[in-house]
Amino acid sequence: VTPHTPLGTGKEFDAIRAMVARWGASADGIGDDAALLDAQPGESIAVSTDTSVENVHFRRAWLTPEEIGWRATTAALSDLAAVGARPLGVLTALTVPPSWRPELDALSSGIGAAVAAAGTRVIGGDLTSGGELSITVTVIGACTRPLVRAGARAGDDVWVTGHLGGPGLALHAWQSHREPPAAARARFARPEARIAAARWLADHGCTAAIDVSDGLVADARHVAMASGHVLTLHLDDVPCVDGADALAAAVSGEEYELLVTAAAGAIDAGAFARASGVALTKIGAVASGTPGVVVLRGGNRVEISAGHDHFSA
Ligand SMILES: [Mg+2]
Repeated sequence: VTPHTPLGTGKEFDAIRAMVARWGASADGIGDDAALLDAQPGESIAVSTDTSVENVHFRRAWLTPEEIGWRATTAALSDLAAVGARPLGVLTALTVPPSWRPELDALSSGIGAAVAAAGTRVIGGDLTSGGELSITVTVIGACTRPLVRAGARAGDDVWVTGHLGGPGLALHAWQSHREPPAAARARFARPEARIAAARWLADHGCTAAIDVSDGLVADARHVAMASGHVLTLHLDDVPCVDGADALAAAVSGEEYELLVTAAAGAIDAGAFARASGVALTKIGAVASGTPGVVVLRGGNRVEISAGHDHFSA
């Protein structure tokens, strides 16, 4: 643990002081120009950043401020899980409009809770005023056996963690002016970064991994293109939350579950579930061929269009 460096005077620094106080033991060495991290020999450093913007990634009416902070932080931490890294620290850059200032404590609580759940700390950040709430979370991790998208090999099985479709169900309900079912809402509002689960998979022969942020099929396509292989997915085997259809679950984004490949027979799903508390389901296979994804339902091919594209409109 690194002591904090005393901050200057004024309302901005008062707000940062309040956030750091709220984070308690979840903040580490705040206040100097940069955080200093100890790297271990033989480890790669993993770095990723992710921005959540009001009215793009969430609406104020849907979530509590705590949930907005949790979700933005977890979305970024999920990218560390995707490469099998252990988190070293998190930086949070917030743009806060005047109307959100009273919620800064609650937003900070959600950020702190997500950071603590991942076993890491806030090591820095930035705070500014602006027109729309925006939370940029930068995550830093370390790994001895990095998982990459390009590692899938012909003959591998394709697996997915958890149960899909919750965020899609929740979004559909909100957009239809209904309150989502509690379980689906929780999957949207309080997703989990599969940090420990990913490290177990990295230690047990996983060949490629990606976190499901664009949707199962779209993310499988990323692995297929990166690996230069065909991924065949069986919709009938996709594990769904209650009330979700497999087709909807296969295109539901922001799941933050893991899609992984591993040599046939290499992974014991029961041992994984006992170690991580998360389900692991075999949903397909990798083969040679023109890189892409083939989706089958009841033996018939189903065409599914690409995932979410922020620049498509
Ligand atoms: Mg990702």
